[in-house]
Amino acid sequence: MDPRFINTIPSLSYNDDKCDDEYAFVKALCMSGGDGTNSYSANSRLQRKVLTMAKPVLVKTTEEMMMSLDFPTYIKVAELGCSSGQNTFLAISEIINTISVLCQHVNKNPPEIDCCLNDLPENDFNTTFKFVPFFNKELMITSKASCFVYGAPGSFYSRLFSRNSLHIIHSSYALHWLSKVPEKLENNKGNVYITSSSPQSAYKAYLNQFQKDFSMFLRLRSEEIVSNGRMVLTFIGRNTLNDPLYRDCCHFWTLLSKSLRDLVFEGLVSESKLDAFNMPFYDPNVQELKQVIRNEGSFEINELETHGFDLGHSNYEEDDYEAGHDEANCIRAVSEPMLVAHFGEDIIDTLFDKYAHHVTQHANCRNKTTVSLVVSLTKK
Ligand code: SAH
Repeated sequence: MDPRFINTIPSLSYNDDKCDDEYAFVKALCMSGGDGTNSYSANSRLQRKVLTMAKPVLVKTTEEMMMSLDFPTYIKVAELGCSSGQNTFLAISEIINTISVLCQHVNKNPPEIDCCLNDLPENDFNTTFKFVPFFNKELMITSKASCFVYGAPGSFYSRLFSRNSLHIIHSSYALHWLSKVPEKLENNKGNVYITSSSPQSAYKAYLNQFQKDFSMFLRLRSEEIVSNGRMVLTFIGRNTLNDPLYRDCCHFWTLLSKSLRDLVFEGLVSESKLDAFNMPFYDPNVQELKQVIRNEGSFEINELETHGFDLGHSNYEEDDYEAGHDEANCIRAVSEPMLVAHFGEDIIDTLFDKYAHHVTQHANCRNKTTVSLVVSLTKK
C-alpha cells in the first residue's frame, strides 16, 4: 500500500503494531456465516433473548430521542456489529415501530428512515441482506414506515459514518470484542481468557485494552452522532465481586480452555500453540463501564441495567449430550473462524465434542456471575 495513505485510514493505523502479527487470527474474527447447523444464524438464541431483555430500554430511548429532537423528518439509525441472520433486524424493527407508533400518537407524519448495518468486512452480509425483503414486508404491515437499508462494513473502532449524521445507534453483544489481543499475557498460559487461576497482570492487561477500545469507540461515535442523539449498548458483562479474576467454573472461555487442554493432552495441539491463543474479549462490570463513559466525557448515562444471564444449562440433566452439543454449537458459532485461523480446521469437531462433554458436567452449577449490561446514553 502507498505509505501516504496508511495514516488516513483509522482502522489500519489504530491496530498497527507488533501484536497484529503475533495474533494474526484476530483478523478472522467474525461469526460463522450462512444458515447451516453450525452458523451464527442458527445458534444465536441466547443473543436473541438478550435483545428481548433490552427492548424496554430501547423503546424508551427511541421515544426520548424523537421528542428531544422535536420529531425530525429524517432519521438515520446504525446497528453496529449486526452479524448475520434474523437477530440483525430485531432492534432496528423495534426502533422503527416505536417511531411509527409515537408519530401516530401525536399526529405527526413519520420520518423517512435510513438503517445502516455495520459489521466487520468478513461478516456474511449476503445472508443478512437476504432478510431485507422480509424485513421491509413486515414493516409495511406493522408500521407503514419508509425505510432504506444500507451496509456499512468496517470496524467500529474506526470512523464509519459522516459527522453529525446519526440520530440513534444500537449495538448488542458486540462491544465485548476488543480490537486486538492485549499485550503482556505471557503468564496466562493454558487459558484462552481470564480464569480464577490467572495472574493479576492478565486482568490489568485485558482491562487496559477494553478501556482504550471502548473510549475510542465513544469518541468516534460522538463525532458521528447529532447533539442529543442516543445510543443503546448491550454488553456481556460480569457482576462486581471482590476478585476481578473470578469467572464461573462453567464460563464459556474456561470450558473452551479446558477442551483445548484436552487436545494438548491427546497430542492433537501443541502446548505452545495453545499458549499463543488468547481471546480478544472483555466482560466489564458496571463500575468499569461507567468509568470509561465518564472519563471519555462525550455521553451522559440515562440508564444502566444489569440482567441475569442464563446460558441454558440449568435446564438439563448431567450427561445430556444433545443439550451439551446445542450449547457447544453456540460457542462454536462465535469462535470457529478465529479457531480455524489459528489451529486449523481438523481439530474443530473434536474440540467441540470435548466442549459438549465439559458443559454437561456443569448442569448443576448455579453460581453464574456472567450478566448482560444494557446502557442508554445521550450525546452531550
Ligand atoms: N448484534 C448481533 C450480533 C452479535 S455477534 C446479535 O445480537 O445477535 C457480535 C458481532 O460483532 C459479530 O458479528 C462480529 O463480527 C461483530 N464485531 C466484532 N468486533 C467488531 C468491530 N470491531 N467492528 C464491527 N463489528 C464487530
